[in-house]
Amino acid sequence: MTDITGLTIAKLRDGFRAGEFSAREIAEGYNAAVAGARALNAFTVETPEDALACADVADKARGSGEPGSLAGIPLGIKDLFATKGVDSTAGSHILKGFKPEYESTVTANLRRAGAGMLGKLNMDEFAMGSSNETSHYGPVNSPWRRQGSNVALTPGGSSGGSAAAVAAGIAPGVTGTDTGGSIRQPAAFTGICGIKPTYGRCSRWGVIAFASSLDQAGPMAKDVRDCAILLEAMAGFDPKDSTSLDLPVPQWENGLSGNLKGKRVGIPREYRIDGVPPEINALWDQGIEWLKDGGAEAVEISLPHTRYALPTYYIIAPAEASSNLARYDGVRYGLREAPAGGNLDAMYGATRAAGFGEEVKRRIMIGTYVLSAGFYDAYFTKAQKVRALIKQDFARAFEKCDVILTPTAPSAAFGIGETTDPLAMYLNDVFAVPASLAGLPAMSVPGGLDSQGLPLGLHLIGNELDEQTVLNAGLAIEERAGFTARAEKWW
Ligand code: GLN
Repeated sequence: MTDITGLTIAKLRDGFRAGEFSAREIAEGYNAAVAGARALNAFTVETPEDALACADVADKARGSGEPGSLAGIPLGIKDLFATKGVDSTAGSHILKGFKPEYESTVTANLRRAGAGMLGKLNMDEFAMGSSNETSHYGPVNSPWRRQGSNVALTPGGSSGGSAAAVAAGIAPGVTGTDTGGSIRQPAAFTGICGIKPTYGRCSRWGVIAFASSLDQAGPMAKDVRDCAILLEAMAGFDPKDSTSLDLPVPQWENGLSGNLKGKRVGIPREYRIDGVPPEINALWDQGIEWLKDGGAEAVEISLPHTRYALPTYYIIAPAEASSNLARYDGVRYGLREAPAGGNLDAMYGATRAAGFGEEVKRRIMIGTYVLSAGFYDAYFTKAQKVRALIKQDFARAFEKCDVILTPTAPSAAFGIGETTDPLAMYLNDVFAVPASLAGLPAMSVPGGLDSQGLPLGLHLIGNELDEQTVLNAGLAIEERAGFTARAEKWW
């Protein structure tokens, strides 16, 4: 029989429609893989019965009318998405046992397209982190290993469970979210593709909020085509999210083409930063050659405010987080710690002290500090101004080019427990954060392996609403990189 878990979503979809295998066979194959690979700690909740029920619906409907674009495809869902009746905890102790009464718009859209759910995916607590080590459920084990070593590596974060699941072949595709790199950096660390669309393409309704002006959902999958298929199903206007874009969803899969004739690829000079390993810069140069080979012209561009992006992000994101996380008070959701004889304040304090992890507390402290009356102008207002300048840099750059190529992350995957300094951890997103601040679509595609045999990603940033050029440039790289390396089998 076909190795179901080795197939892309496109192949599963086409094989299912052609009657080569049933949706039930697909669901059973993945359910077994999920159960067999628990050592990865990729899932926080498994929902095999959901995957099977959706598969049976798809099998019954096969052949009658037009099947949904994801009929028969079971997906992993990042634990940041509210899923009706299924634990939705954002990787946090404070949301312990929280079963929403509603379904997020993105997951509802996926369900409408026919997808089933394999389970909820582990993640950094409230999506704060770059290694999945801040999760209340413990770190996710990357399925990758350095050559000749057994050291456990992180899959990146915050969508670490999502990345590990796709890389290990235990989910054909997954949802991720990206506030400052959380789809792209883990995709790069695990040798898979992931795209964050333009801010507003995917509804944030039912996505547990971290930093609302930055949060965007997006897909992660084995290849560019699968990302296009998933994003088409996830995106769309939603009146329940006031920042949702009221625009039709383009047919990205139909528009895929690796022919970049007439396109200009911008190479930002400020992204050549100190301390990046030579092999990452070499891959970047190779990426430029691949895009030229696809017909594009390379042009040097300048994004002068790049060096302020990370500090700006680490003011704005914690500020919004401190406000968004104020709702976890022991009254409305999940955990409640009420010390005997204590008053309401004591309950708030005890619940939040017990419910939030170190990194989340750090962000709340930073956030409340930069929003406090005495420091608001010096930090928050200033950061908003710098954000506007960063956005303006991109607008100027896109007068000269159609898509921008950079490395995704400044290193390959590191070991669990190896990066303990929060500032060193924040540096992981140095290339990812500018596009987040500007609300632009951006994608990571695998480019090659480093000298230790670990995946490295290339990063494409597009102009507002131009996911198509990002996907097409990603495809041009994919067609040339010949990235066929796969992580070890875990089940
Ligand atoms: N690593 C970044 C952070 O910790 C980005 C996280 C994200 O995109 N959710 O904030």
